[in-house]
Amino acid sequence: MQFETLGLSPRLINALQEQGITDPTPIQTQAIPHALAGRDVMGLAQTGSGKTAAFGLPMLDALMKNGRKAEPKSARALVLAPTRELARQIFDTLSAYSAGSHLKIGLITGGVGFTPQIERMARGVAILVATPGRLIDLLDRRAVDLSKTEFLVLDEADQMLDLGFIHSLRRIATLLPKARQTMLFSATMPKQMEEIAGAFLTDPVRVQVNPPGKAVDRIEQSVHFVAKGAKMDFLVELLDKHRDELAIVFGRTKHGMEKLSKQLEAKGFAVASIHGNKSQGQRDRAIAAFRAGEVRVLVATDVAARGLDIPEVRHVYNYELPNVPENYVHRIGRTARAGMDGAAIALCSPDEMGELRDIEKAMKAKIPVASGAPWEGVPEAKAKPAGRPGGRPGGRPGGQEHRGQDHRGQGGQRRPAQAANAGAKPAGGQKPRRAGPPRRRATAGAA
Ligand code: AMP
Repeated sequence: MQFETLGLSPRLINALQEQGITDPTPIQTQAIPHALAGRDVMGLAQTGSGKTAAFGLPMLDALMKNGRKAEPKSARALVLAPTRELARQIFDTLSAYSAGSHLKIGLITGGVGFTPQIERMARGVAILVATPGRLIDLLDRRAVDLSKTEFLVLDEADQMLDLGFIHSLRRIATLLPKARQTMLFSATMPKQMEEIAGAFLTDPVRVQVNPPGKAVDRIEQSVHFVAKGAKMDFLVELLDKHRDELAIVFGRTKHGMEKLSKQLEAKGFAVASIHGNKSQGQRDRAIAAFRAGEVRVLVATDVAARGLDIPEVRHVYNYELPNVPENYVHRIGRTARAGMDGAAIALCSPDEMGELRDIEKAMKAKIPVASGAPWEGVPEAKAKPAGRPGGRPGGRPGGQEHRGQDHRGQGGQRRPAQAANAGAKPAGGQKPRRAGPPRRRATAGAA
């Protein structure tokens, strides 16, 4: 399949070739012809599937063919994304595809001053890429007019819901003209998405490339069962094995991740960190240094789980498991990008068994065990008095993977060398957390 066959204009195809892009990905093959025909599209696709081009190319095609100039304060197309990083990524991608054309593209995100954004919008833009919060601020200041917008894209819609943007989205929906083309892309389809889809889309074509929540196949996933107090040294050992490659380490809290980045620095790693306590300038600089290979390890909270597109990232470490299961999929999607291979390594301590189960349930797959064994004494659903704290870190010989079985209560195995050592001494003697029903909460505050 070729881009020509999909109906894109030669000008765009040339722009793609300059980016080294010659053959469409499955989501592009499925979505582009419908989008070019003017249909609404609902796409279920992972990051890394090429979905930015899937919505961006038909939109650019239409905007280029109808060269009408945008009116002051208005945008002919609006692309909404959950995070600043993703918004910038989309802005950069669309700018590259439209290089040399007359199309003006604007970027509106939080964390930077209002004035340049207001001035940019005063003249109107062909495409506006925005995060919902800042867009609402600018709408309140009457700096943006959405009443003439012809195209709308909601990217990573599930993450927008997770981050609590539902009210912003509802409000934005009321400001847009009814007659428009809308595309919604999401990696997962939580229940609330039906409401969003119903409010925004008209008779959409549904396209899907991966079953919901299923991680990209090229990512080699594994989990090590490691006590909390042993995680730092364990991570250092793992990072040490691949000193020349880029790695992202994900954790939950701003403070925890800041502390970890200092500890890794003290161990001699070139580290940058991004989390909610960092200014936009600091985040941009951290990502630029990481992209350039000046720092090899990026320590991050879930603010970085989406949008980051750095093909050289070989390893993603889940130093702490996310408590929103879908975020696991997004975190590990930072590797194995643009056709490359990657590995996602999770470190699971006794208090994270609930998170691990939630993640495996959401992915409908077990994560292969690299070392150690699932911690015992963590009840499945309703908490009962737990067994021995931390359980017995017995493991599987050689740390082989095992799938789809219940591993609790298996005795007699030898310990795989490294993880057993790490897991055998639960420093701090953690108690298993009460593993209640799956917890879901927005990560915005924590990250
Ligand atoms: P996305 O899923 O939009 O975040 O894209 C992931 C990565 O795939 C980006 O680095 C794109 O430049 C790249 N990409 C998008 N479409 C193609 C394609 N048809 N062939 C090869 N790479 C692509």
